[in-house]
Amino acid sequence: MTAQARKALTHLGNGSDPASREILDALPVALYITDAEGRLTYFNSAAVALSGRAPELGVDKWCVTWKIFLADGTPLPHDQCPMAVALKGGEIVEGIECLAERPDGTRFWFTPYPAVLRDSQGRITGGINLLVDITSRKLEQDKARQAGLLLGAIVDSSDDAIISKDLNGTITSWNKSAERLFGYTAEEIIGRPVTLLIPPDRLEEEPRIIARLKAGERVDHFETIRRRKDGTLLDISLTISPVRDAKGNIIGASKIARDITERRHAEAEILRANRDLEQFAFSASHDLQEPLRSLKIYSELLARRYSDKLDGQALEFLGYLRAGATRMEVLVSDLLGYTRISKHEEGPETADANAALAIVLASMAGSISESGARIVSESLPTVPVRPAHLQQLFQNLIGNAVKYRSLERTPEIHVTAKSQEAEWTFAISDNGIGIAPEYKEKIFGLFKRLHTSEEYSGTGIGLAICQRIVAEYHGRIWVDSEPGQGSTFCFTIPRTRNSVE
Ligand code: ADP
Repeated sequence: MTAQARKALTHLGNGSDPASREILDALPVALYITDAEGRLTYFNSAAVALSGRAPELGVDKWCVTWKIFLADGTPLPHDQCPMAVALKGGEIVEGIECLAERPDGTRFWFTPYPAVLRDSQGRITGGINLLVDITSRKLEQDKARQAGLLLGAIVDSSDDAIISKDLNGTITSWNKSAERLFGYTAEEIIGRPVTLLIPPDRLEEEPRIIARLKAGERVDHFETIRRRKDGTLLDISLTISPVRDAKGNIIGASKIARDITERRHAEAEILRANRDLEQFAFSASHDLQEPLRSLKIYSELLARRYSDKLDGQALEFLGYLRAGATRMEVLVSDLLGYTRISKHEEGPETADANAALAIVLASMAGSISESGARIVSESLPTVPVRPAHLQQLFQNLIGNAVKYRSLERTPEIHVTAKSQEAEWTFAISDNGIGIAPEYKEKIFGLFKRLHTSEEYSGTGIGLAICQRIVAEYHGRIWVDSEPGQGSTFCFTIPRTRNSVE
């Protein structure tokens, strides 16, 4: 409290004068007055509001509050409170922070401003104390400190490297994972240029990143290569966001770098394994065709030329042999079809879906009229897919919609396409037998069937082919179904090839 304020308060005396009392009572700050022995002689309404109690005048001593603690939580006896110290002639320490508890258990922070009142000879006649409520400021400080500590802990315990830099590309902070990932300690690297981490052939990335940050843009999951202290390279995914000062000016960037070396290896491994598998499936199905053809031809010759010489059972076995060979032929040719899907072929790269559908419906005219199916389609778009692939999709999905029809109703099949953001969503819906929820994903696997070939013909490759085609174009395929009511197969095709490659 300033000397001037203290003088002014001293002038108000012991609060016995009604005019000064009125002023003190109207003050928005808690205030109380004591005699020279510390007994309370006056307190204002703000003191009652703050301390949560009305002390007993002439009895309660030193302090208006119920319980007091020092800032570190140690209880402070009333006779050692700042007012008591001042009245006992001790030093008045200003600006200390105390914690107090109200009788209802709630707590508040305050700073006391005690002053002693003296007579003309300088003898202490009493004291006056102002208690300034600092609870909200303390809570804000605590929150900010906690957020800082929390944040700090997150940054330190993160598995990702978290780095910040200024707009000149100078590194300003470096967490533990950055040390692990790049091999530099914080002491070694803070203050040095971020280009230390960039391989020479990628240095042009930095000005482009800085330009985007200056424009307030964020760089998300940018996959690139960076260099460790020992010179080895690592694959990383970077997410970089601009850092702003209090006025909103961009002053730097924070960078999260994730090591994706293992993921890259795993992806390359999967790609290689897939290629091997495809090569194997292709060679196997290709090489199987020849012996299969012989099997078919000779079993047919046997049936044709020697059926009168064979007894009933031999004929029955021959029938099984022929049926098996025919089924295997279909399987092998479907499998070959599956392995051959590639969009890197000659020919047109876009297809008018109306034309593709018309070709498919014409080729299926027989089975459609036999089933009595009604097929309704909307006007469909032209999409960046090879026509043969789009036809394969329609062929398999509409073929299934006809094949897995319900015998209780006329099959109704709808073909639609909806434009959604960057892609087209095609839907082929039927009112057939439907699919139980637990099989909604499995049916897209190779050879996955829910029925025997006696119930429904098929190889279990059709939907796997559809999935493979859609994946080639970075689309998705799925089914929604109500068992017994029908199914809707949907697939998406991105509108442009460039947007995905
Ligand atoms: P296939 O029809 O040769 O068995 P698919 O791969 O085309 O092979 O389909 C896999 C399985 O998914 C089918 O055996 C069938 O059980 C189920 N399925 C596919 N389409 C439908 C459909 N529209 N309605 C009901 N079930 C279907």
